[in-house]
Amino acid sequence: VVYHIRADRLIIHCPVCREPQRHLPTHLARRCMAGQSEEARREQVKAARASQKAWSEKGRVWDFGEIRQWCPEPAGRYGLLRRLLDNNFIVLNLPEEEELLALQAESARPLPCAGEQVRPEAAGPSTVLGDCQLVLRRAQQEILVLTKSLQEGRHVTDAEKTRFRYYCEAVLILKLLLSPSTVENLTAKEWLERRPSHDNHVIVVHRPTAEGKPATSFGLTENDAALLQLYFSKIRPGNLKDRDLPDNQFFVGQSGSGIRSASMDVMRLHQHYRLPMVCSEDVRQVAARDVAELPEGPATVLRRYLGLAGG
Ligand SMILES: [Zn+2]
Repeated sequence: VVYHIRADRLIIHCPVCREPQRHLPTHLARRCMAGQSEEARREQVKAARASQKAWSEKGRVWDFGEIRQWCPEPAGRYGLLRRLLDNNFIVLNLPEEEELLALQAESARPLPCAGEQVRPEAAGPSTVLGDCQLVLRRAQQEILVLTKSLQEGRHVTDAEKTRFRYYCEAVLILKLLLSPSTVENLTAKEWLERRPSHDNHVIVVHRPTAEGKPATSFGLTENDAALLQLYFSKIRPGNLKDRDLPDNQFFVGQSGSGIRSASMDVMRLHQHYRLPMVCSEDVRQVAARDVAELPEGPATVLRRYLGLAGG
């Protein structure tokens, strides 16, 4: 008899002792199910093979986006990720290397002492829109102080400037429900060419978005526009030095290059305030669900805005 299947593909864990076995039927007959009927052993072998097959097909692949939801704490998230990667699991949607390093550093930080411990609050697709936006409320006090300092030309640390930028990105993603790619690709030119409309500032995004939708526009309140303008005039130039061009990205990191992942920036803001992560997709889903309960008029407008309805 010629066996075409390589021996190492036949390793199956014994359902009784949980040890990996190359020849499960023999192992069961001699050890774990010795003395039981051939029929009973055959059933167990069949079930163990089905289990192994299901694991190979599905169990070996994990999605970092899901890990992020299940493990809001950086230490747990990083620990689980390490274990999966060390054991040859396949992890999809991994963050960039430098972002992994940031997660590693964050996970190595000591836990807050009992007095300042923040109780993790419910997150994920089942929460209401207000819960998804909790980080904006949590950050508000610090942002108010930073706004005043920036306006009055007082010293603001690099970390605070970066957090101010994260907050601006979070407003666009969590409050205006823009997709991360729209936020990443927003240009200085588009910002400078914004036009007033009623009490709104309308920004037209000229390029097609990553989702393949045509050019689009979004409106900002006076307050949010002032926030972004403060970032644009007081923080961004310091990052860019003398390399500014109109087509440059609106959001620029400390290194002077455009941001690569607005989602990760928003995640870092959650980490800073020790809140569980909410991804932009969750927020859009929650918003879509809440919209379904609105009366027809506003619901139609919002549905179109969220890309849930044509026209
Ligand atoms: Zn066994």
